[in-house]
Amino acid sequence: MDTTQKLAFLISDKDLSPELLAIAEKVEREERISFDDGVYLYKYAELGYLGVLANYIREKRHGNRTFFNRNFHIEPTNVCVYSCNFCSYSRLIKNKEEGWEMSVDAMIDALKKYDNEPVTEVHITGGVVPKQNLDFYAEFFRRSKAHRPDLHIKALTPVEYYYIFKKAKLSHYDGMKYMQDAGLDSMPGGGAEIFHPEVREKIAHDKCNAEQWLDIHEQAHKIGMRTNATMLYGHIEEYWHRVDHMERLRQLQDKTGGFQAFIPLKFRNQNNQMDHVPEVSVIEDLRNYAIARIYMDNFDHIKAYWAMISRETAQLSLNFGVDDIDGTLDDTTKIYSMAGAEEQHPGMSTRELVNLIKQVKREPIERDTLYNVVTDYTNVEFEEDVKPQFYKLPVINS
Ligand code: SF4
Repeated sequence: MDTTQKLAFLISDKDLSPELLAIAEKVEREERISFDDGVYLYKYAELGYLGVLANYIREKRHGNRTFFNRNFHIEPTNVCVYSCNFCSYSRLIKNKEEGWEMSVDAMIDALKKYDNEPVTEVHITGGVVPKQNLDFYAEFFRRSKAHRPDLHIKALTPVEYYYIFKKAKLSHYDGMKYMQDAGLDSMPGGGAEIFHPEVREKIAHDKCNAEQWLDIHEQAHKIGMRTNATMLYGHIEEYWHRVDHMERLRQLQDKTGGFQAFIPLKFRNQNNQMDHVPEVSVIEDLRNYAIARIYMDNFDHIKAYWAMISRETAQLSLNFGVDDIDGTLDDTTKIYSMAGAEEQHPGMSTRELVNLIKQVKREPIERDTLYNVVTDYTNVEFEEDVKPQFYKLPVINS
């Protein structure tokens, strides 16, 4: 049965509640679901139902195609002027001797390690410190581009930019333009957490608020820059806070069209001030991906970070609305491992990523940051996988 037949079968189920039937019919008609529909799904829809709807949308948009990229991270510092309660990564500025702060030279050296590697993107994010200011990043972007013009720079979030632009007395628009002129190509989705102040003030009280986060993305979109968006879920928020978060993003996307991917981020509870808050189950992770796919009808891609949720859950997520599982990483990020992710040294070769995707009957597509196809691996076989294997047999009576 294909996804269209599965949806039709679901709609014909006489036991479906009128609310769930109405939502399924909206999905079939490609009609947007409402805020109340979103909350209803979170409260009452079981995983099987959500999977049928989310996979229907996913396959309508992308078929079996599943995206990944070849990337590495640079984390310029883990010291931070802010003190988000869920953060396992940063050290307060008063304890800065426990952390690291890279110079521009050190960051360029980190980038040069990949000189002979076919990576397409460097992803830069970390803490916020006064020294890493407008001039610091502008110098880094210029020197990176001078050294390797083809490497896409996806760097920093509105959390860093809000702080940097305020210090430099620049408007969000002028600040983003300045960064773009220096070499910045796009912006990752971090720092969004949960927008609603009821939650945000409890988990991230001192960094940029929802309006500032959204405005910096809006200004980036105005100058033609593509960006991503995240949501940190599964802690103290209620279901309607998640829908409120997605609704604000959906509205901005209607206005600008500049977002590429929505990335739900699972709250992990190790080494942070919220270690008493239990983590949600894998079932809830999958329900959340599926509802995101159904709700965010104007976002092209729903992405899961395999390094954060494990390889197995990433494979499962591909049946619940996800079409992108991020990149090779090469063990260059500590953000997930410090929060308690199973992957303590996240890194996968292209072959491993391709095989991970093929194992669940999807088509692996290497993309660049802007989702241009770099290589379609659907029919590519790696030499190591086709080479005959010889095993040493025990010798009897020798
Ligand atoms: S989440 Fe980001 S802004 Fe908050 S403390 Fe950690 S590094 Fe700083």
